[in-house]
Amino acid sequence: CVQENNSKADLTLIEKAFHFSVDAHQHQKRSSGEPYILHPIGVAMILANFGLDSFTISTGLLHDTVEDTLATIAEIETEFGPEIAAMVDGVTKISKISFKTSEEKQAENFRKMVLAMAKDIRVIIVKLADRLHNMRTIQHLRPEKQVVIAQETLDIYSPLANRLGLSSLQRELEDLSLRFSKPEIYYKLVAQVAKRMKEREKYVNDVQAMIQSGLDDHGYSNAEVNGRPKHFYSIHRKMEKRNLMFDHIYDITGFRVVVDSLEQCYGVLGLIHSLWTPVPGRFKDYIAIPKANFYQSLHTTVVGPQGEKV
Ligand code: MN
Repeated sequence: CVQENNSKADLTLIEKAFHFSVDAHQHQKRSSGEPYILHPIGVAMILANFGLDSFTISTGLLHDTVEDTLATIAEIETEFGPEIAAMVDGVTKISKISFKTSEEKQAENFRKMVLAMAKDIRVIIVKLADRLHNMRTIQHLRPEKQVVIAQETLDIYSPLANRLGLSSLQRELEDLSLRFSKPEIYYKLVAQVAKRMKEREKYVNDVQAMIQSGLDDHGYSNAEVNGRPKHFYSIHRKMEKRNLMFDHIYDITGFRVVVDSLEQCYGVLGLIHSLWTPVPGRFKDYIAIPKANFYQSLHTTVVGPQGEKV
C-alpha cells in the first residue's frame, strides 16, 4: 500500500517505526478488546493511501506512543530524528487540549489554536487520520460517548479537513458523525438515497454514457466520468438549513469529469454546454477564483435529457 502510493517511500524507516510501536503498545487493548497496535496501523494506512511521505506515515505509527506508553519524545528523537519527534510531539499536544462546547465561536477558536500549534501541517493531517480511524471504530464505545465524539468531529475536525482541501476525508468524517450522533436521520437518508438511486439508475447511466461518448468524440480519451459521490451529511444540513424536504434537495443528478489539464477543464465545459443548455447563474469558475482552501474546479448546471437538471 505504501509503495503503490509513494514509490520513494523509505520502507526501512516505516518498518522501524512499526516495530517500535508494536513494542510500546504491546500490553494495551482497544475498547473493542483488540490489540491497540491495530489503531496506529490503521492511521498509518490512511496516511499511506493519501500518498504521504515516510516521515508522516512513521508519525502515524508512533502518534500514541508518547501519550499512552512509557516512550518519551527524547527516545523518539534518538531513534527517528528531530523531524518525526517534532511531529509526534505536535500530535500529542493537540490531543491534550480539551474541547467541551459546540458553540461556534469557541469551535472556531479551537480550530485556530490547532492550526497555530501545528507548525508543520502534516501534524494536522496525522491528527485527522487519527480521528478518522477512531470514527471508523466508534461503535465499540458507549453510545453517550459516541455522540460526544461525533459532535466534536463535526465542530472541529471536519472543518479542518475542509480547510486543508481534504474533501474525501471531510465527507467520511461527517457521514460517520451523522450515523453515530443521529442514527435515525442517517439511516432514513441512506434508504431514501438508495431508493432514489434505483429509480434514477437508468437515467444516470444514460447521461453518463452520453457524456463519455461526447468526450471520446472530441479526443478526451483520458477523461474519467463518474457519478458524484453521495454525502449524507450535506443533504441533511441543506434540509435543516433551508427547511426543505428530501425530494427538493436530491433532485439534481451530479457528475464529475476528471481530466489532465486546466485547458481540458474548459474544453470539457464547452463540450457539455454544447450538448445541453446551461442554466443561467449556475456556472462557477473555481479555477480562475479558487475557494479559500485552494479547491479548484468548474461547476455548471445544464438542462439534460427530458428537461431534467444535471
Ligand atoms: Mn490515536
